[in-house]
Amino acid sequence: TNPANIRNFSIVAHIDHGKSTLADRLIQVTGGLTEREMKEQVLDNMELERERGITIKAQTVRLDYTARNGEKYVLNLIDTPGHVDFAYEVSRSLSACEGALLVVDAAQGVEAQTLANVYAAIEVDLEIVPVLNKIDLPAAEPDRVRAQIEDVIGIEAHDALEISAKTGLGIEDVLEAIVHRLPAPPAGDPDAPLKALLVDSWYDAYLGVICLVRIHEGTLKKGMRVRLMGTGANYNVDGVGVFRPTKINVDSLGPGEIGFLNASIKQVRDARVGDTITEEKRPTSSMLPGFKPAIPVVFCGLFPVDANDFEDLRDAVERLALNDASFSFEMETSAALGFGFRCGFLGLLHLEVIRERLEREYDVDLITTAPSVIYKIKMTDGEVIDLHNPADMPDPVRIDTIAEPWIKATILVPDEYLGGVLKLCEDRRGIQKELTYAGSRAMLVYELPLNEVVFDFYDRLKSVTKGYASFDYQFIEHREGDLVKMSILVNEEPVDALSMIVHRARAEMRGRGMCEKLKDLIPRHMFKIPIQAAIGGRVIARETLSALRKDVTAKCYGGDASRKRKLLDKQKAGKKKMRQFGRVEIPQEAFIAALKMD
Ligand code: GDP
Ligand code: MG
Repeated sequence: TNPANIRNFSIVAHIDHGKSTLADRLIQVTGGLTEREMKEQVLDNMELERERGITIKAQTVRLDYTARNGEKYVLNLIDTPGHVDFAYEVSRSLSACEGALLVVDAAQGVEAQTLANVYAAIEVDLEIVPVLNKIDLPAAEPDRVRAQIEDVIGIEAHDALEISAKTGLGIEDVLEAIVHRLPAPPAGDPDAPLKALLVDSWYDAYLGVICLVRIHEGTLKKGMRVRLMGTGANYNVDGVGVFRPTKINVDSLGPGEIGFLNASIKQVRDARVGDTITEEKRPTSSMLPGFKPAIPVVFCGLFPVDANDFEDLRDAVERLALNDASFSFEMETSAALGFGFRCGFLGLLHLEVIRERLEREYDVDLITTAPSVIYKIKMTDGEVIDLHNPADMPDPVRIDTIAEPWIKATILVPDEYLGGVLKLCEDRRGIQKELTYAGSRAMLVYELPLNEVVFDFYDRLKSVTKGYASFDYQFIEHREGDLVKMSILVNEEPVDALSMIVHRARAEMRGRGMCEKLKDLIPRHMFKIPIQAAIGGRVIARETLSALRKDVTAKCYGGDASRKRKLLDKQKAGKKKMRQFGRVEIPQEAFIAALKMD
């Protein structure tokens, strides 16, 4: 295809503003799928994505459109995930495009991820067409939202389109705007040595690793020998194709085009996104600028509930990592939880998605330990250690300083909930940087320690604002802080899986919370059990679990025999999954519940 008739674009939006619905509608209108094939949100094909209505992996689709002027165009749409954890996927997709549709819910207006995503698009110089969606809703206020886009984002919005992705209203205008308002890709030389950007890669059960590519120069053909310039590995191209949205093979892809290749690449790790693909015999002279690698920022331990499932878990984790290069893992052992894995994630949602996939797709029950961030520990001898497991904390006398990651958070919230959000941020050691207004919504910028955010921040934010706040963050730097390791002792024995690194000012509160929880979770024994939180040798919180009277069924006042029997049965079943700590037996469920954040 002549590059002048190609348009490569993304859709960026805050979650739930209608990206996927609009994408479906564009596919439908251009005839990408028959009515029968058209199920809702074709692009969200991972089961979890469908269920949660979120897009995790970016998807691509090629559309044929005959414009009102009679010209035929090829439109390549790359759908992007909307959630902060997957911001790296957004910027990756954007760099394969010349333009973006900025979708804003006309009833809700600009939200935190609208800003984050549109700024990412502006950063890579994309032309932006604002689209006001959901104008079928009675609450839609297109004029107000238009003004808001201009005030808050600072881009021209008087010619923003008004559409309803749901009813299909205005979809043709969107297609015309793509053709006439977005630029064509630069015309590269089709006979030059191949120069293509590896935009994304994922594992396909039939074809092995599939690479999504954007051709800059030259021509990609089946049977060609290609080299991945970053890794230096050479491959034979087994197939070249495009997504419509199902995979269709094509003879070749030329400059400006987006499509895929498969080349018997075994692991996703070997097809690094951001790499430049060229010809083995006739390499291009320079590499394309790549992407910043996605680095894990949140860590936790994953252990099988049943120790016999360890091998299954290993298998599942290895297979998942094949398909998700941003997920990392290493083996870990814990006295409390046995054998498991220490895993790294891009953020809390990523953690949750992986955990759910392991439980669901691979059928293993998991215990997840409290999430931790990466601390930089400077030792007295000058060495700097990256620590992401509190259990590996060196002896405090050898530690000079501990630094923790800080983030810049942007929060948009309706005025009436502002007070609650301010308090939450202050409680979490936040430093206020900005407070401005966008209509009746406050826009807050705070610097916060990431450690305080991974610990139930989203949930608290949601509950203090009844779900009306939106949130986005970026890592800024590691800063020194008064951080300590807090241990939990049950009957004077430390329980490794429950230790955590906390700020000294927050230690007492966190310690007290944990002790209170454990007191309810650990069954009573024949003797008194102290439950303590300690920093070094100093106890900062303490609860005592009183001793059990001889007759366990005495608890059941009244003579309900069936209830008594149930209690005894429950005790018997529970026995099987007990872990021994000194003289104390702690049921597995107690760990699960204690580590669950609420
Ligand atoms: P995404 O998270 O941006 O991909 O948003 P979705 O496309 O999944 O849409 C989120 C929700 O908004 C879904 O329940 C859609 O049915 C609904 N929705 C999308 N577009 C419209 C629209 O134009 N009008 C109305 N009323 N609802 C819409
Ligand atoms: Mg979506």
